[in-house]
Amino acid sequence: MTVTVDASTDLDRTRFFIDNQWVEPRGTETHRAVEAATEDLLGTAALGTDADIDAAVKAARAAIDEGPWGRTTAAERAAAMRRFADALTARAEATSTLVTRENGMPIGLSSAFNGAAPAGLLQMYAGLIEQMTLEEVRPSAMGATIVRREPVGVVGGITPWNYPQVLAMMKIAPALAAGCTIVLKPSPETALDSYVFGDAAVEAGLPPGVLNIVLAGREAGSSLVSHPGVDKIAFTGSTAAGRIIGSECGRLIRRVTLELGGKSAAIVLDDADLDVFLQGIGMASFMNNSQTCTTQSRILAPRSRYEEVVDALATYTRNLSVGNPLDPSVEIGPMASETHLQRVLGYIEVGRNSDARLVSGGGRPAGQDRGWFVEPTVFADVKNTDQLAREEVFGPVMAVIPYDGDDEAVQIANDSNYGLGGSVWTTDESRGVDISRRVRTGTIGVNYYQLDLGSPFGGMKDSGLGRELGPEALNSYLEYKSIYGSANLTRG
Ligand code: NAD
Repeated sequence: MTVTVDASTDLDRTRFFIDNQWVEPRGTETHRAVEAATEDLLGTAALGTDADIDAAVKAARAAIDEGPWGRTTAAERAAAMRRFADALTARAEATSTLVTRENGMPIGLSSAFNGAAPAGLLQMYAGLIEQMTLEEVRPSAMGATIVRREPVGVVGGITPWNYPQVLAMMKIAPALAAGCTIVLKPSPETALDSYVFGDAAVEAGLPPGVLNIVLAGREAGSSLVSHPGVDKIAFTGSTAAGRIIGSECGRLIRRVTLELGGKSAAIVLDDADLDVFLQGIGMASFMNNSQTCTTQSRILAPRSRYEEVVDALATYTRNLSVGNPLDPSVEIGPMASETHLQRVLGYIEVGRNSDARLVSGGGRPAGQDRGWFVEPTVFADVKNTDQLAREEVFGPVMAVIPYDGDDEAVQIANDSNYGLGGSVWTTDESRGVDISRRVRTGTIGVNYYQLDLGSPFGGMKDSGLGRELGPEALNSYLEYKSIYGSANLTRG
């Protein structure tokens, strides 16, 4: 079936990537991808149906059950992954630019997370799988046991729009290293960039069916979650969707990792150097226009220095440059979609209608009549029980909350349904590390917050289940198997 588009651009993606072929969609639905900063049409993408998902899962199933991928050695997979990394690196600049146009991410950040990081992750997991012992023989009471690590099987990867390339690769790279095959269902908001993986996979000579990409909305996404041919779901997105996906995986006894939302706290201790805090708060709280799961949108400030922290933050946010994210000097780009802008503006209204004090921002920037921009906004005197302190805004709206003493700071930081990221700001690093040990989050930084691709990443409480990144992530793509035999057993 041919998809009709109302206007065409050279960025259109109207076919899916299944079994190394560009396949016509079974349905007719499309998504108009619009540039976040200009509201101009970027391109049109086909939206998948259950039938498209089914075709992709069948291709992934065949590639592992019958195809060569299921029989490859770790060294062969590592070689293919390194070719894949090279093919992505060759496209890195174009990919970073495209994502910036899609979701408003400042171009410098996009070059790191959408340009460099995906290739880096492929290289990292290629190296790790080569070094990993996938089979060992252990003596047992009856003779010996071969303990093997086998691929989990077919993985359904479901990703959000905020860091589309790196979040997808956080699933693809360990899956491929382990010997799994994958069906990726990206988010419609970042419809176009995901297919760069398909272009690069073909160039790298990945066997058919190893990587399949079908852009789809929630309904077809849920058919991927419950498809009988899928062995594991790797999901990144909202806690609301994670609950639905997690419960379906529970019903099916299907392996699942959930990387979900957050309401992280930056704890400014009474001895903090505010210059250091202001140098680091950009990454901790405003990275990607605060459309980041680990955004530290609760700023906990000691009552003894409360006004000092509030003033510093208000001045900092007033000086942030807001504009077209393709301009390397711009620090804050637009929100990714009009719907999301309205959601963020709604939270600003919630703050305005509460007892909190608006100290900077508070609406749309003057003079920007196109694009989904919002002013970086700070509310002071927020209580940790306020809606603004409980719910994820996913935009540059900060709540400054006062506390008395370290114990209360830890108590407030932990008084959240979420447990994803956080930071502690202090001139005494060991005090900062002690506080960090008491905060129930998957990651936390002392005097900076920046993702370390080599260490496990994920959430506690409603922020998720399982870990991505680091060598640890490989575990969730491997199953143990024990083969009992005689003392004469040898390793394969
Ligand atoms: P979302 O949950 O609306 O969508 C994420 C993806 O899931 C999309 O591809 C969507 O189409 C799909 N989806 C939604 N409901 C589904 C269902 N029932 N079955 C199958 N697929 C479904 O999230 P979003 O708005 O795209 O992303 C923002 C959210 O992602 C925020 O909450 C953010 O904190 C979270 N996030 C978490 C991490 C992390 O690592 N913890 C990283 C980035 C973003």
